[in-house]
Amino acid sequence: MSNPYYKDYADFLAERFDGKVQKITVNAGFTCPNRDGTLGRGGCSYCNNRSFSPTTGVATQSISQQIIDGKRFFRKKYPEMRYLAYFQSYTNTYGEVERLLALYKEALADDEVVGLIIGTRPDCMPNELLTRLAELNKFKPIIIEYGAESSHNSTLAAVNRCHDWGTTVDAVMRTHNAGLTVGLHFILGLPGENREMMMQTVDRLSQLPIDCVKFHQLQIIKGTQLAADYMSGKLNIHLFEVDEYILLCADIVSHIRPDIAIERFVSQSPDNLLIAPRWGLKNYEFTHRLFNALALK
Ligand code: SF4
Repeated sequence: MSNPYYKDYADFLAERFDGKVQKITVNAGFTCPNRDGTLGRGGCSYCNNRSFSPTTGVATQSISQQIIDGKRFFRKKYPEMRYLAYFQSYTNTYGEVERLLALYKEALADDEVVGLIIGTRPDCMPNELLTRLAELNKFKPIIIEYGAESSHNSTLAAVNRCHDWGTTVDAVMRTHNAGLTVGLHFILGLPGENREMMMQTVDRLSQLPIDCVKFHQLQIIKGTQLAADYMSGKLNIHLFEVDEYILLCADIVSHIRPDIAIERFVSQSPDNLLIAPRWGLKNYEFTHRLFNALALK
C-alpha cells in the first residue's frame, strides 16, 4: 500500500495498469434523465454540473481530439504516461447503445488510452449495454462509477435523486457479474443525514462487490436548488467543520471493507461557484491532517 492506513487510488491503479496512468476527462455532450424531463427537470438539488466540469453538456470537440489535447499537457514531462479516458459529466450511459459504443470505442482506439472510466446513474445501465461493455473489457479495462450518494431512501428522495438504494444495489450486482470494475460515489452530509446514517451507508457499501469508492463533503454550489434553500434559510443543514469531517473520514477508514480502494474524501468546487463550506484547504493538506488523525487512532 502506498499509504499505511487504507487502500488508495494509486494502489487500485497499480493493480490494473503498468506504469503511470493519468485520467483525461472527455465530454461527449450527454445530458441527464433527471434534467431533460424523463425523470425530472430540476436535477438533484445539489447539482450544478459546471462545478465539476468546465463545459456543460456540450461537446465542442470530438472525443479523439479531446484526448489528443489532454495528452499534450502531460506528454512533455512524462512521455511514458498512459491514459484513462474519463467520461465524467452528466450521465454517460444515457443514450442509444450503438451511439454510446461508438464514443467509447473512439476513446479506446487511441493506443495510449489503456482503459475507460464511465460515470453514470445506477438507473441508466441496461443489460444490453452491460453485455457490450463486457466485450470491450476483454481488451482494455472498463471502470463504471455510479453516483449512489446515500444508502438512505429518505435522503435520496429529499435531494430529488429519482432513484433508490435498491437500484444502486441492482446496478452494482449486474455490473460486477458482467466482470466490470465498479465504483460508487457518495456525498457526506446530505440534508437530514446524521453521522449514524452515514456510517450505516459505509456498512452497506462494504457488503457490495465494489472495487473503489469516492466520498466528498456536501458543498453548497451556486445555481442549485440547495443553494436557493440555503440562502433563504429554509434548509436545516449541518455543514461540516474541517476537523469534524476529518474525524468522520477516520471512522470511515476504520469501518470500510479494507479491499475497497478509497479514491478521495474531498472535492473542491471552483471558487466562483462555491458558497459553503469554504475550508481553504488543499487536497494534500487534507490528506496530511487525515493521516495524523489516523495515526492517533
Ligand atoms: S448529479 Fe448527476 S444525476 Fe443528478 S442532476 Fe446532476 S448530472 Fe443528473
